[in-house]
Amino acid sequence: MAEIPEAPYPRGEAAVLLRNPLHVDAHVLIEPIVLDTIKRHRQRSFTSPEAGGILLGYRRGFHLHLVHATEPGKKDRMTRTSFRREDGSHAAHALALWRRTDHEIDYLGEWHTHPETSPQPSTIDRRAWQEILRKRAETFVFLIMGTESTFWAGCGIGREIRETDEATVEETLMAEDHR
Ligand SMILES: [Zn+2]
Repeated sequence: MAEIPEAPYPRGEAAVLLRNPLHVDAHVLIEPIVLDTIKRHRQRSFTSPEAGGILLGYRRGFHLHLVHATEPGKKDRMTRTSFRREDGSHAAHALALWRRTDHEIDYLGEWHTHPETSPQPSTIDRRAWQEILRKRAETFVFLIMGTESTFWAGCGIGREIRETDEATVEETLMAEDHR
C-alpha cells in the first residue's frame, strides 16, 4: 500500500508586510527566509553575542522587497552588546547577487540582534544608520531582532529614520497577489 506522500515542503512562516512610514502607500515586504536566517542568530543565552548582516532585495519604486539576509563572518566584531560589520563576505555576497540578477537585487539595509525581548535602537545604532543614509539618497530598512521573535524595523531616508507599522490584512493580501 502506497504511503501518503508528505507535503513537498514544510509549511513555513508567512511573509511579513510592513508599511514604509516615509512614503504614502509604500511597503516593506519581508520574505520568510529572511526572518528565518536572522532568527537563527537570536541571543537566546546569557553569553551569545550580537550578530548582524545586511539585507538584500528589490526596490520597486518606494516599495522594498527583502529576499536575503547575510550572516556574520569571521572578521565581524561581535560582543554581547555590539556588532560591527567588518567581514568582507557581506559585500561579496551582495555583489554576487547583484551581478547574478542583472543588478536587480540590491543592498536594502542592515540587521542585527539585541539581547532584549522588545528591541529598541540605541543611539549608536541610529548614528551608524545615519552614516549609511548620508551616502545614498534612497530608502533603507533597519531591523533589530530581539531574543524572542519580536523585532524592531524602521525605514530611513536622508536624515529621517522612522519605525514601520504593520500593514493591514487587506494590504497583505494585495501584496501576496503581486509577489
Ligand atoms: Zn543595536
